Amino acid sequence: MTQPVTRAHNFSPGPCVLPASVLAELSEELPDFNGQGMSLIEMSHRDPVYDEIHCETIDLLTSLWKVPNDFSVLLLQGGASLQFAMAPLNLLGEKGDTAGYIVSGSWAAKAIADAKLIGDTYSAWTGADHGFTRMPTADEVEIRPGTRYLHVTSNETIGGIRLPDFFDPGVPMVADMSSDYLTRHIPWDRFDLVYGGAQKSLGPAGLTVVFVRQSVLDATPDGIPAYLRYDTHASANSVANTPPVFAVWATGKMLRWVGNNGGVDGMEKRATERSSMVYRVIDDSQGYYRSPVEPVDRSTTNIVFRLPTEEAEAAFLAGAASEQLLNLKGHRSVGGIRASIYNGLATESVQALVDFMERFAADGR
Ligand SMILES: *Cc1c(COP(=O)(O)O)cnc(C)c1O
Repeated sequence: MTQPVTRAHNFSPGPCVLPASVLAELSEELPDFNGQGMSLIEMSHRDPVYDEIHCETIDLLTSLWKVPNDFSVLLLQGGASLQFAMAPLNLLGEKGDTAGYIVSGSWAAKAIADAKLIGDTYSAWTGADHGFTRMPTADEVEIRPGTRYLHVTSNETIGGIRLPDFFDPGVPMVADMSSDYLTRHIPWDRFDLVYGGAQKSLGPAGLTVVFVRQSVLDATPDGIPAYLRYDTHASANSVANTPPVFAVWATGKMLRWVGNNGGVDGMEKRATERSSMVYRVIDDSQGYYRSPVEPVDRSTTNIVFRLPTEEAEAAFLAGAASEQLLNLKGHRSVGGIRASIYNGLATESVQALVDFMERFAADGR
């Protein structure tokens, strides 16, 4: 077999780092699945061998996240980006319906831009006036008459802000949870639809996980192409066409790892504790590191911060890279530093970052 790999400390915002044990299992099982004489990724997606993996992934999502019976779990492709269109296509069927969007950052802006092409939408709140550094409180969100759903981006991956709790807006919610999937339990009774790409905290790229309520499926408007209808996938248990078999398989392994590490409660505790380690260094640095984010809305998965100058930020990134602390550059649209600390990242990597930040600040001050 291959040599053991020295793992870099990978703070990539996505695709995300996966636990070494998950990668080891995949590489061991890849060439010959269970003595079948072929890889799982070479088999028919209708083969009972694949079907078992497929169903197990759906079952694990359902049980780990306590998904109610009247939701279907869909394994799709096209990323969260395709959901920006699929959600309004499937939900905005009735004449007079409108959809409110909380415009909390770059991803929410993309979601409403696509929805606008499909149906009537409005901005229920925008963070543009505050540079997208905070989420709204419940009383700041405007819900207009005829609102079919309120769309929220529970964690803005680029801005590093997170909706601290899912308040009850009085209309069904639709959530893009790409970058905080399975890092907290959610009040399912308030949602009609939850979606996200798997590659931020659940597995490799190529898989989009969607949770959709039965009443949405029952009210699917006419005139939508087959792949874009949620009910197409729900009635076929997500094998209406070829599913992304490798990503489903790998995500199943990641979900088993989540289950063995305390489930969603364990992931929440992990995210809270580990992000606090980094925020503590920021807050204790006497202003050397600055978080632009309102403290109550700080993301527990994407930690964004600045240094005194752009030169200092460049030196920070270079110094970090020399210690194998990688992918810490902030998104090109905002600059600065971003440490993405998803479920699968090892705690020793977070510790290595914290140690480096303390040393760098001491030298720089
Ligand atoms: C990454 C991301 C997306 C886009 O996801 P794709 O799967 O690449 O389409 C959408 N929303 C959020 C919050 C994201 O972090």
